[in-house]
Amino acid sequence: MAAPPAWGARLVVIGAGAVGVTIALRLRRMGHDVTLLSTDAPGSENAASYGNAGWLSPGSVVPISMPGMWKKLPGYLLDAQGPLRLRPSSLPHIWLWLLRFVACGATRARARAIASALRPFLADAPDRHAALAAEAGVPELIQRKGLLIVYPDEAAYEADAFGWQLRRENGVRWRTLDRTALEAACPGLGPRYGFAAQISDGAHCADPGGYVAALATLAREQGVRFADGHVDGFVTEAGQVRGVSTAGRVVACDGVVVAAGMGSRALGAMLGDSVPLVSERGYHVQIPGVTDEPPVPVMMSDLKFGITPMKGGMRAAGQVEFAPDGAAPDWRRARILLDRLRDGLPLVKIGGFSTVRHWMGNRPSTPDCLPVIGPSPSTRGVFYATGHGHLGLVSAPWTAELIGRMVGGDTVPEAAPYDPARFLGSRRRGPRRGSARP
Ligand SMILES: Cc1cc2nc3c(=O)[nH]c(=O)nc-3n(C[C@H](O)[C@H](O)[C@H](O)COP(=O)(O)OP(=O)(O)OC[C@H]3O[C@@H](n4cnc5c(N)ncnc54)[C@H](O)[C@@H]3O)c2cc1C
Repeated sequence: MAAPPAWGARLVVIGAGAVGVTIALRLRRMGHDVTLLSTDAPGSENAASYGNAGWLSPGSVVPISMPGMWKKLPGYLLDAQGPLRLRPSSLPHIWLWLLRFVACGATRARARAIASALRPFLADAPDRHAALAAEAGVPELIQRKGLLIVYPDEAAYEADAFGWQLRRENGVRWRTLDRTALEAACPGLGPRYGFAAQISDGAHCADPGGYVAALATLAREQGVRFADGHVDGFVTEAGQVRGVSTAGRVVACDGVVVAAGMGSRALGAMLGDSVPLVSERGYHVQIPGVTDEPPVPVMMSDLKFGITPMKGGMRAAGQVEFAPDGAAPDWRRARILLDRLRDGLPLVKIGGFSTVRHWMGNRPSTPDCLPVIGPSPSTRGVFYATGHGHLGLVSAPWTAELIGRMVGGDTVPEAAPYDPARFLGSRRRGPRRGSARP
């Protein structure tokens, strides 16, 4: 373990998802005294980190918001069986976010800027996760078998040319497969698909919830204290954080990292910071005991969902649903995934909805497709590490690296695109260079 800094900060990390646990481990290794507070235990089904698709792809540099998206949106929204749903009651709360979201990738230049800002999180993520999993004693959870993005035909692949151009510009390598090669790489895939791109450097996590729990065990062994606790306030003194409160108890500290996924928005509001997260709700269905599942993760480009071979069965994950905060899941979205799975894998025997596990989770998404990582605009000693949207699992190690450097007092110029102060309404009163030093 690295020598502790002379000032030996007492740090609280809020949130036991992939991001918070990875950060806690990193900060502890830097020699800090770290307490992790979380509403839910590490690996809990309530966290987005539990039920995601497990993709660790250097190819995910392509932003969700791309040029021409505004033309496709109405079609998606009108298609009740499509990959995107917006409950009308959510519109008053999210319309501004949506406009900004569509605008952020509306030109090639903007999409290019987002892709290059995402690259550092993704480029060597498979290596970083493999190293973490090995240390945590669960090397088998990071599988390095590559990833397949499948298309009906070569013309559909060509129609995605700009996305592939962005990948090439950001160092992603892939090879294309015709139907024969695709059948060899992924037996059982239906005739719907005749072409594919194979990202050989890509990896996947075969049990995201189990992985987070294993990282938490490692962190605990290394001295991170874990406590159940829903954080409901901050104690500040002259613009410096001094503690966090949870159910009437105050945990004193010199610094706080807010890594609470969707919960980070409310925590930011308590400090007067605008952290404009909206939940892009996603769903999964998981089918245990399938013997002829695809041997590698597959993204159905046209149906917009991914299939991942997981420890607990074949998981189909996807869908984006905008709904009011706290609204009950709409399990029709999960049923659609099951139907799409049957379309994509007609030869695979898949039972009815009652026989599969289903799950809904909140992707903490920003209106500019970039995470929120950096010092609080309002309060010294507070740092945000959230807003990873569709990419929070893969991005956790690089996020932890950035936070480690910031908390140590370093200036981190390459983190400028993720600065929490970039959002309207943020008021930066403290120093631009955050440090947990009192
Ligand atoms: C269907 C789907 C598929 C996805 N696929 C992928 C993928 O393939 N690859 C990828 O990289 N990402 C994927 N994602 C995104 C990824 O899951 C998220 O970005 C990531 O899990 C966010 O992690 P997190 O640690 O920030 O938040 P979470 O995992 O949600 O954890 C937040 C934690 O904060 C705690 N918390 C919240 N509020 C408070 C509070 N006030 N006090 C204390 N604790 C609090 C919660 O209890 C929870 O433990 C997917 C998401 C979905 C929904």
